[in-house]
Amino acid sequence: MARYTEAACRLCRREGEKLFLKGQRCYTGKCAIARRSFAPGQHGQGRKKISEYGSQLREKQKAKRFYGVLEGQFRKTFDSASRMKGKSGENLLQLLELRFDNVVYRMGFAASRAQARQLVTHGHFTINGKKANIPSMTLHAGDAVAVCEASRKSPKFQDLATRPVPSWLTFNPEQLSGTVAQIPARADVDIDVRETLIVELYSK
Ligand code: SF4
Repeated sequence: MARYTEAACRLCRREGEKLFLKGQRCYTGKCAIARRSFAPGQHGQGRKKISEYGSQLREKQKAKRFYGVLEGQFRKTFDSASRMKGKSGENLLQLLELRFDNVVYRMGFAASRAQARQLVTHGHFTINGKKANIPSMTLHAGDAVAVCEASRKSPKFQDLATRPVPSWLTFNPEQLSGTVAQIPARADVDIDVRETLIVELYSK
C-alpha cells in the first residue's frame, strides 16, 4: 500500500497552514509552522504570485494532505463524489470525512490520521461487530465502530486523546466505541479549503 513517507511538516509549510499531521506535536511550540511559516526549499520565501491554476492545485493538495490520501485515491473519491446528487465539492469532503481512518481519528482513538490508518490496518477495530481493516472504507449513518475484544487492554487505548468529537459522531470512551450518528454537512467539516477550486481543477 503506497503512502507518503517524507517529512510531514514540509507539507504544512508548503500549504502555509497547520494540517495537524503529527499528533500532539502540532499543538506545541515545536510545530514547524510556528517556527518557520514559509514554504520549504531554496525559493520558499520568494514565491508570492500564484496563478488561477496554482490556487486550484494548492486547494487540492491541501485537502489531499489533510486527509492523508494519495493522488489516485483522491481522484477516485472525487469521481464518486461527482456521481452523487448535490454539489461535487461538498460530496467530496463528505466522502473524505466518512473514511474509516478519518472516523477513527475524529473519535479520538488516534492522535493523527496517519496513526489512525495504522491502527485500522493492524486490525484493531470492528464495524458493526465485524472486523474491518481497510482505512479507505466509506462509513454510513448508523455504522458502529469499536475496538475489537482482543485489543481492548492494549496500552494504545488506555490513554486516549481528548479532542472534542464532532457532532455527527458519538463516542463512548468506557466502551471504546462510537457511531456515525449522521452524515456530516459542510458546516461540520473543519478544513479550511475552497472545495469549488478542486472541482474546477478536475473539470478542466
Ligand atoms: Fe504540521 Fe503538525 Fe508539523 Fe505543525 S507539527 S507543521 S501542524 S505536522
